[in-house]
Amino acid sequence: MPEAFKNFIGGKWVKSKSGKTFENRNPADTGDLVGTFQLSTEEDVDAAVQAAKKAYPDWRDTPAPERAEIMYRVAHIMRDRKDEIAQLMTREMGKVIAETRGDMQEGIDTADFAAGEGRRMHGQTVPSELRNKAAYVIHRPMGVWGLITPWNFPVAIPTWKTYPAITTGNTIVIKPATYTPACTAKLMEILDEAGVPKGVINYVTGSGGVVGERLINHPDIRGISFTGSSEVGKRIGEATGKTLKRCSLELGGKNAQIVMDDANLELALDGALWGAFGTTGQRCTATSRIIIQDGVHDEFVTELVKRVKALKVGNGLDESVQMGPLVSEAQLKTVESYVKIGQLEDKAKLVCGGKRLVGGDFDKGWFHEPTIFDEVKPDMRIAQEEIFGPVLSVITVKTLDEAIEVLNGTVYGLSSSIYTQDVNAAMRAIERIEAGITYVNGPTIGAECHMPFGGVKETGNGHREGGWTAYEIFTEMKTVYIDYSGKLQRAQIDNK
Ligand code: NAP
Ligand code: MG
Repeated sequence: MPEAFKNFIGGKWVKSKSGKTFENRNPADTGDLVGTFQLSTEEDVDAAVQAAKKAYPDWRDTPAPERAEIMYRVAHIMRDRKDEIAQLMTREMGKVIAETRGDMQEGIDTADFAAGEGRRMHGQTVPSELRNKAAYVIHRPMGVWGLITPWNFPVAIPTWKTYPAITTGNTIVIKPATYTPACTAKLMEILDEAGVPKGVINYVTGSGGVVGERLINHPDIRGISFTGSSEVGKRIGEATGKTLKRCSLELGGKNAQIVMDDANLELALDGALWGAFGTTGQRCTATSRIIIQDGVHDEFVTELVKRVKALKVGNGLDESVQMGPLVSEAQLKTVESYVKIGQLEDKAKLVCGGKRLVGGDFDKGWFHEPTIFDEVKPDMRIAQEEIFGPVLSVITVKTLDEAIEVLNGTVYGLSSSIYTQDVNAAMRAIERIEAGITYVNGPTIGAECHMPFGGVKETGNGHREGGWTAYEIFTEMKTVYIDYSGKLQRAQIDNK
């Protein structure tokens, strides 16, 4: 029997007022029903916001180290349930089991970090310009936050937002992606079991257009943290701008790996394979362009095609499978349409893959061959637009300057990478690449949870999740002055 999931509001699992549910199916085997979920309404969101608002004052007043202590228990329960939830995640969105274990591990690491952070949350103390006066800065929670998450990291991304948000004393309402609500429900179970008080965390499933829209427009919500497409991100930026809610946006990417003539080619090939086809190319940091110097082009592409053709595609629950399905039929159709664009409109050279996988078990799900286009020009659509699938474009350049110019030539700026043995070239690339993340001699994917994460240009609006910077997103800074002189001292005015 598939599990019948409910919303989690004010510490209780409850049905939507709509009386309606939706199904979630395994993209590798659509006959496998993962669960049914509440198709929620605005009323459900309002109830969740109300519960979060009610829980806020007491949670705000709970000392941060005490709040954070819960995170030790959260990490512990997550470790115990790592494999069980990884299995569920592979069924829910398709990525291979080694990667869903990695997704869980990222959540565990994020809990460990949060546990410690409750005893830091550093402010700053500076000298006052006046005698007998203290000046310092503290960080205060803000109130109720709305968290809206995508489907490609069904546990990691909800933890990136939820853990810092509640550790800093806020309360939350989370709306998970419609493709992956089950994993977020498990996260709620874990937080509840670990001792998060009722109403501090609330979970409402349903569509972006209804549940998401109500969250971004709700007058009692102080901030929205969103990860997803640039298209929806811009819409959220607009809506939250009207009420001046704080808004943190982590959006799309068109990430590139530069390979210079002097690179260690073995390393660069390993990086390209993992960066482009890990998570079936459905990572915001996925490598979707290889920018290669002409001297090594032929050798690199020949060898890469050989390795890509050898990739084992299938159901991610099979430990030997290296690449799973696309998350949905719609995502598969997007990939197919870009392959057509690459061939017909862009006239790039298809050197590998290019077709939906059919026959046998492939017919049960949404599988596509890992695909490579060569002879791609930087301005072609396949080199400019985010495809979010296993499609890689190879662009040939002559110099480092040209490579950086091509890399920077899209509207996005999330992750980037350069393979070279020349420290001078690496340093120049680090300084001139317009991206939130640059790897040297590593692929574009593989962020560590205690480091700032985010992008420039249309990838975001300047915030950085991950590490200590996530704690800045969810807090207001307060500047405090304490005058213990016993008289009126006026700043900037001659007091003598
Ligand atoms: P999406 O379509 O933008 O959806 C993201 C979330 O927003 C989902 O929960 C969605 O709900 C919700 N949503 C949709 N319309 C909304 C609206 N009008 N108001 C409020 N919420 C709304 O993105 P996705 O397809 O799930 O994820 C893929 C995208 O995310 C890619 O562009 C990828 O690059 C990006 N991404 C970025 C990062 C990063 O850190 N930069 C990380 C991961 C993914 P429904 O599911 O119900 O539609
Ligand atoms: Mg699904």
